[in-house]
Amino acid sequence: MRVDGVLLDVDDTLVDTKGGFAQALTAVAVEYLPHVPADRYPELLAHWRTDPGGYYKRFTRGETDALTQRRLRADLLHRTFGGEPVTEDSFADWDALFWGTFERSWAPFDDSAAALDALRAAGVRIGVVTNAYTELQERKLRAAGLEGVPVLVGVDTLGYGKPHPDVFVEGARRLGTDVARTAYVGDEPTTDARAARDAGLVGVWLDRPGARRDDEHHVDADALRADGIVVLPGLAGLPAALGL
Ligand SMILES: [Mg+2]
Repeated sequence: MRVDGVLLDVDDTLVDTKGGFAQALTAVAVEYLPHVPADRYPELLAHWRTDPGGYYKRFTRGETDALTQRRLRADLLHRTFGGEPVTEDSFADWDALFWGTFERSWAPFDDSAAALDALRAAGVRIGVVTNAYTELQERKLRAAGLEGVPVLVGVDTLGYGKPHPDVFVEGARRLGTDVARTAYVGDEPTTDARAARDAGLVGVWLDRPGARRDDEHHVDADALRADGIVVLPGLAGLPAALGL
């Protein structure tokens, strides 16, 4: 396998978004859910990342906006863990704490910058395809010291996001590479790796240790490999896995 281009996801692929949400949810718990003991904070994080209400999925289908999906997730979190409902009135203060803490947390993974450098050194084109707004992801990458990789497709580019195949095809088009000679690297086995493969790209599932969501623990990496998907525990092995 040799590719001409590599498209990457941002959240939990290049930037430690899970770590950021952990900090933000801790701040929320201290302020709004004081009866929840600290040893249950991982449950708050798992709830947030799994999105049991499916609100972020609705956002990526273009059915709602970023603030609305976040308010509804906040309300479901509170209801699940015995807090007050989060209403349209109370959400502004909640979100100032949650999102403010989250934005201050943005940091890369230890292997992110080196992997991007290695891809550039190998002569392949690189870019980002993400399910959040383009402007947000540009700010996030800049804060994480990864501003050298361009955000080619955000959820606002087409009005919908992954796993729709158009999103991956548009990423390759903007990168200027053939779909079949373009890899897509992301942390979600279905929304990222399998969807990219189904769109005709080389799908790469980044299965970082301890990073799976609650609904991903059952995922069979061998079955994904059997379908031609590359499975990696970190970004360090990415160039070699792509034959670069
Ligand atoms: Mg991700």
